[in-house]
Amino acid sequence: MNSPAASLSPNYLRSRIGKICVAIIGQDAAELLQRAEEVYRENKFLEFRLDYVPKPASALPKLKAFLVEHPEVTAVATCRREANGGRFAGSTSAELDILQKAAAAGFHLVDVELQTAEQVKAGELDKLRAQGAALILSWHDFMTTKDLDGIFERIRPFEPEFIKIVSTARHLADNVAMLRFLDRAKDKANVIGICMGEQGVISRILGPRSGSVFTFASATAGEETAPGQISVQTLLDLYRIDQLDTATKVYGVAGNPVSHSLSPAMLNAAFRRERVNSVYVPLQTGGMSDLLTIIREIPLSGLSVTMPFKQDILPHLQKTDPLSEKIGACNTVVRSQDGKLYGFNTDVAAIVRPLEKRLQLRNAKVLVLGAGGAARAAVFGLKDKGAEVFILNRTIPTAQKLAREAKAKVAKREQLAKSTFDVIVNATPIGMRGSKHQSVLAPNEINARLVFDLVYNPIDTPLIKAAREKGLPVITGVEMFVHQGARQFEIWTGKPAPEEEMLRVVVHALRQQAESGTPNR
Ligand code: NAP
Repeated sequence: MNSPAASLSPNYLRSRIGKICVAIIGQDAAELLQRAEEVYRENKFLEFRLDYVPKPASALPKLKAFLVEHPEVTAVATCRREANGGRFAGSTSAELDILQKAAAAGFHLVDVELQTAEQVKAGELDKLRAQGAALILSWHDFMTTKDLDGIFERIRPFEPEFIKIVSTARHLADNVAMLRFLDRAKDKANVIGICMGEQGVISRILGPRSGSVFTFASATAGEETAPGQISVQTLLDLYRIDQLDTATKVYGVAGNPVSHSLSPAMLNAAFRRERVNSVYVPLQTGGMSDLLTIIREIPLSGLSVTMPFKQDILPHLQKTDPLSEKIGACNTVVRSQDGKLYGFNTDVAAIVRPLEKRLQLRNAKVLVLGAGGAARAAVFGLKDKGAEVFILNRTIPTAQKLAREAKAKVAKREQLAKSTFDVIVNATPIGMRGSKHQSVLAPNEINARLVFDLVYNPIDTPLIKAAREKGLPVITGVEMFVHQGARQFEIWTGKPAPEEEMLRVVVHALRQQAESGTPNR
């Protein structure tokens, strides 16, 4: 690629920057500067969004002083116009004028939209580049991911130092299109590729591994400059983006929704602790065929499956363990080297094993509340261990059907106050954070030696509190959650799971969610 003699060379810039460029925003120059001062200590590659400031040119003297003071910082100036998805209300020539001043102020790179480059006379871009800054020529599609190669070929004649193509993922498969594109383009140009949106998260994590020179991150959660942008701390600490390479195995949690799932925090912590070269990503999708595409094409090495895919995944598995087949639900998939998919259900062990640690399940009298997916795992798992199982459910025919299938019995609510059980298991969502704060049973209906609430957010549910008030031992849903994840880790890696670390991370994340008021999932 021929860059004008005056511009900083891509090789020089690549030697200065890491894999992450942190977007800095602020309402005025002082705020931009303050954020930059805070962020540069951890990350020295910064994009200043000048279009967020009402008078961008007036911010430049302060930013110039910052760059003089911090020669280790590599800085991108962006002043995106409203027409191209930014906040700058001025014309294209006003945009170029600001970028030219930014280059003169010491910015190392300037970001110009392809639309701007195509509108202005060639001489104007040359004038901008004569200031010495390298040129990022960028394209943003806020609707779809399409024709990435076509856009690339439109940008190439301008011979920028960096080509940036940002699209919007409507499906997980759009990430595959972006990663494949990066793989094709990386030897022809210095290319940056990202899919925006919640479904584009994979491209932000795996893009650099596929050839994107770097990716963008927000300084903190809440300071995103594009939909789906991840904070720099999350990219580094949670996804370990600077350690991902072509040998890294990719796993994920598939569901809808999964944005607040604690599984990425828990399983990435386990991979990090055990030094397993794997990463675990959220896979937000609306459809099974989209999910199957991503499993095949990324390819994924394994999958946690959650609502609403636990049943729908079954016909697509080559083999399923007998218990998953009986239950009719699978929460764990392993992809073999030849692409075959094998299904397991670790929810069963996650309910049975914590109970077995505390009491003998053979002939134990167990009441299961609910008849949905989690209840099915409990009922079949407990029957398998020889327990006598009673089912109580809001919709009685569903309880009757499950009881018939599993050779269990149906309990009646009006008899609970007079009945005693060895164990009561709550497998309904009652008591979940965000729902009405109530116990699934009245105190006089809680007559058992042990109470197990599968709900894990909050940790101390109303049922757990009511049981403790009666002096009964309890098992919280967190124990089940960690256990099902730990068994997944073992199935995927063949190593014992670091359960204490996984528990620590989950409890910490639940406390954080409770403090920040994030909705439960
Ligand atoms: P599901 O398939 O939707 O089943 C929900 C069950 O709860 C159904 O039997 C439903 O009764 C009953 N139910 C729902 N709302 C109710 C209400 N307001 N009053 C009375 N009964 C109600 O859900 P699931 O997958 O089994 O999950 C159930 C809960 O288990 C989740 O909310 C989650 O908190 C917990 N869970 C925890 C873990 C863990 O790792 N700790 C794993 C999986 C699930 P109907 O048949 O009448 O609709």
